[in-house]
Amino acid sequence: MGLTDIGEFGFIRRVRRGCLIREAGVVRAIGDDAAAVAGDPGQLTLVTTDLLVERVHFLRESITGVELGHKSLAVNLSDIAAMGGTARDAFISLAIPEDCSIEFLDAFYDGMKALAAEFDVNILGGDTTRSKQDLVVNIAVIGSVPEPQMLLRSGAAPGDIIVSTGFLGDSRAGLHLVLNHIATETPAFRALRRAHVLPKPYLREGRFLAGTGAVTAAIDTSDGLSSDIRHIAEESGVGVRLYADRIPISDHLTAFCRGMNSDPVDWALSGGEDYTLLCTVTPDSIEPVCRRYKEKYASPLYRIGEVIEAKNMEIVQPSGEVKPFDVTGWNHFR
Ligand SMILES: [Mg+2]
Repeated sequence: MGLTDIGEFGFIRRVRRGCLIREAGVVRAIGDDAAAVAGDPGQLTLVTTDLLVERVHFLRESITGVELGHKSLAVNLSDIAAMGGTARDAFISLAIPEDCSIEFLDAFYDGMKALAAEFDVNILGGDTTRSKQDLVVNIAVIGSVPEPQMLLRSGAAPGDIIVSTGFLGDSRAGLHLVLNHIATETPAFRALRRAHVLPKPYLREGRFLAGTGAVTAAIDTSDGLSSDIRHIAEESGVGVRLYADRIPISDHLTAFCRGMNSDPVDWALSGGEDYTLLCTVTPDSIEPVCRRYKEKYASPLYRIGEVIEAKNMEIVQPSGEVKPFDVTGWNHFR
C-alpha cells in the first residue's frame, strides 16, 4: 500500500495516534493550522531543524523504517542536548516517493514515537508531500532551557578539561559496514551498525551537565571529534590538546579496526554521527562533576584532553609525541 491509496489526510489520521505524549502546555496539537504551546517563564526557547535526504544521508534499502524514524528524531534531540536543554515538541515534514510503502512509514513513525515517548517529546505537526524519487525527512524540534544554564560552543577557557559522554568512532565504522554491504553477524559488527542507525541522544546527561554550572562549552559529535572540537575551539578563541590513549574506543571498534588493520583513533577523530556530548569543564570542578555523573548514569565522563591558550589543534600520541590533528577530519569545513 502506498500514500496514493489513503491520501494525505488518511495518512495524518493514521499516524497522529500516540503523537501527544505530554499534554501540559499544549493548547493546540495536530489538527489546526498551527500548533499552539505555552512557554515556561524564565526559560529560553531552543529551536533546531535537520534535513535527511535519501541517498545523501541514508540508503532506504539499508535501514529499517523504525531505525530511520529513531535516527531522524535522535539527531535533533542531540542538538537540544548540546544546548543543555529539555526537548519539548517535534514537527515532522516528509516528502514521500511513490515506491515508499505505508508499512515503511508506519514503522518510521513507530521508531520516532518510541523515542519521543522515552524523552517526553510531543509530535505536534508537520507537512507531507509527494516526492518524485527520494524520501526526504525534515524534523524541527523545540526545546527549552533556563537562560543562565544554556550551553554554548563559546566559553571554553585554557585549562578546562575536555570530556566526551560516550565512545567515539563506532557510528563511522557502522556506516562503513552499511556502505560496503558487510554482513553484521558478529556481536561487534551488530553493535557498530546499531551505533550508526540507533544513536542515543544524551538529553538527560546534557541537562545534568548544564545544571552543574561547571560546563563552559558544549557540542554534540555529529561531524567527528576533530571537526566538532574545532567548532568549540574556534567559537571560544582557544586551542585544544587531545590525548590519543584517552579517547574512548569501544571493544567493538577495536575488533573492527584489527580486521581493517587501521587505528581506531583515526576513526574516532574523522568519524561522525556518534552524537555524544563534548564538553569543556572547569578544572576545579572536574572531579566532583565526573564523580556525580558516574553515580547518576553508571557510565564515565571520558576525559580526553584539555583546552590550551595557543590556537593549535594538537594530539599527544602514546609515545608522548605531539602532532597536529589529521586535516582530513575537518578540512571540508573550510
Ligand atoms: Mg549539533
